[in-house]
Amino acid sequence: MPKITLVTGASSGIGRATALRLAADGHHVVVGARREDRLAELADEIRAAGGGVDTCRLDVTDRADVAAFVDGAVARHGRVDALVGNAGVMPLSRLDSLLVDEWDRMIDVNVRGLLHGIAAALPHFRRAGTGHFVTVASIGAHEVVPTGAVYCATKYAAWAITEGLRQESDPGIRVTTVSPGVVESELAGTITEAGAREMMRTYRASAIPPTAVADAIAYALAQPADVDVNEVVIRPARQR
Ligand code: NDP
Repeated sequence: MPKITLVTGASSGIGRATALRLAADGHHVVVGARREDRLAELADEIRAAGGGVDTCRLDVTDRADVAAFVDGAVARHGRVDALVGNAGVMPLSRLDSLLVDEWDRMIDVNVRGLLHGIAAALPHFRRAGTGHFVTVASIGAHEVVPTGAVYCATKYAAWAITEGLRQESDPGIRVTTVSPGVVESELAGTITEAGAREMMRTYRASAIPPTAVADAIAYALAQPADVDVNEVVIRPARQR
């Protein structure tokens, strides 16, 4: 019986690579994001390779949307086995640039969006006595850099929420935090501040492919029921 695994932010980067990898591993993946055309392309690729997939337009900042994403999967498949909370944005900037709307967006997507996923899936996991939460946090959950104050704060929050969830959960529910260093993706595309964008260009030169993170997520999900991979930090070998 395939695992029913939900991936938020699956339209590009790490989420897309994770959906492809998990489908190849035999999961039935339910992929959500706002860009439905990208999800349709991803679904075609998964189906062409013989995998199982459902697509769902999803804005993680909307609690009702996330509930429908999870409840819809339960209605279709009778259960949900895992939720990969991956959706995120990273419009880096100095605090004194006062890009307050971008601060709000990071908090809404990276923190509230993650919480909406937990709120939607936890009751199902508790009823089933089993389930697996995977949060894609960041190396920014472990260190702060200039222009990263708010982004890192959201990732520290994602780390803390996920760690708290792990400590509170019954043994049947597993919880994993995956913290990547710099990875090739569209993430830097959300940066509007020129200085931060320039800094990122140098920083991102050592990026590793998103499949490296997908492999770590697949490893955590593949462990036997009595093994919980609590945390994985995965960086380019050149990133210190
Ligand atoms: P991408 O920009 O390529 O992917 C981000 C994904 O999040 C997209 O699928 C996007 O889909 C989705 N997303 C953004 N806003 C929303 C929203 N409101 N509702 C639903 N989905 C949303 O970047 P990455 O793959 O790099 O990012 C994935 C995660 O990895 C993020 O949490 C990021 O913080 C984290 N990370 C990335 C690192 C890197 O170097 N790339 C390093 C450390 C952590 P759409 O726009 O279609 O909604």
